[in-house]
Amino acid sequence: MNIIVCIKQVPDTNEVKIDPIKGTLIREGVPSIINPDDRNALEEALKIKDKNKDTKVTVLSMGPPQADVALIEAIAMGADEAILLSDRAFAGSDTWATSTAITAGIEHIADYDIIFCGRQAIDGDTAQVGPQIAEHLGIPQITYVEDLEIEEEKVRAKRALEDGYFVVESKLPVLITAIKELNEPRYPSIKGIYEAYKGGKIKVWSAKDVKADEMNIGLDGSPTQVNKSFTPPGRGGESEILEGNPKEQARQLIVRLKEEKFI
Ligand SMILES: Cc1cc2nc3c(=O)[nH]c(=O)nc-3n(C[C@H](O)[C@H](O)[C@H](O)COP(=O)(O)OP(=O)(O)OC[C@H]3O[C@@H](n4cnc5c(N)ncnc54)[C@H](O)[C@@H]3O)c2cc1C
Repeated sequence: MNIIVCIKQVPDTNEVKIDPIKGTLIREGVPSIINPDDRNALEEALKIKDKNKDTKVTVLSMGPPQADVALIEAIAMGADEAILLSDRAFAGSDTWATSTAITAGIEHIADYDIIFCGRQAIDGDTAQVGPQIAEHLGIPQITYVEDLEIEEEKVRAKRALEDGYFVVESKLPVLITAIKELNEPRYPSIKGIYEAYKGGKIKVWSAKDVKADEMNIGLDGSPTQVNKSFTPPGRGGESEILEGNPKEQARQLIVRLKEEKFI
């Protein structure tokens, strides 16, 4: 079985700050990590490989050259090979252009039974890229997957809902988007770290290598553009701390809510 896992390198969100003047993300000095849902996606692929040694797990990322750090970590966790789609032609891509580029990479790999994505990236946060890739490829997709079983030529997945779940079956090939409930991602092993740093497992492909549609990649190929990014001003001065023990605080709160005619 051939599995492709799409992983995105993202800034560690606890540290993300926006330049108040330029309105752009401040990336200098901010550590980068593998997008958390993508770690779950990779773990699920590795679990399948643990059970079936003929399985090949390829990780695929689109990003700048330094995104290879995320791919090295994925190999250290157990992925067989990694591909970085990196080219100035991909810069400024919105979700449509990102999924177009990644689809071109997947089509260049050609052999796949399952494609895993995370549900959502913690920086862009749109949850659009996985479903768009499935649409580009014309294959079924199951999103928000919290449990997965593989049976012969099909998969059975538990798809999370707010107050329950669906059980969905699909034939292969299929695209799955993973949520954190799916599994507990493993740590890289010593052997894996050695393999990863030995080198030779990461291929870098350009837009031309994967024959990406130039009209639909990068800033010019993006139908949407970010107009402005900003941090909303804080609401300083509007809060008040009620003093006293919990009973007294509750009493004061009720009085205040009645005064304001909320109750
Ligand atoms: C309106 C708009 C305009 C934008 N304009 C720009 C811009 O001008 N310049 C710019 O740099 N960015 C821009 N972005 C951000 C960029 O589009 C996103 O970072 C990118 O498309 C991924 O979308 P996302 O982060 O929402 O991922 P999601 O759709 O939330 O990600 C879901 C899953 O898709 C996979 N995935 C997503 N991205 C990648 C990747 N790069 N490689 C491998 N797998 C991936 C992962 O498995 C991930 O878990 C824009 C975004 C929007 C919404």
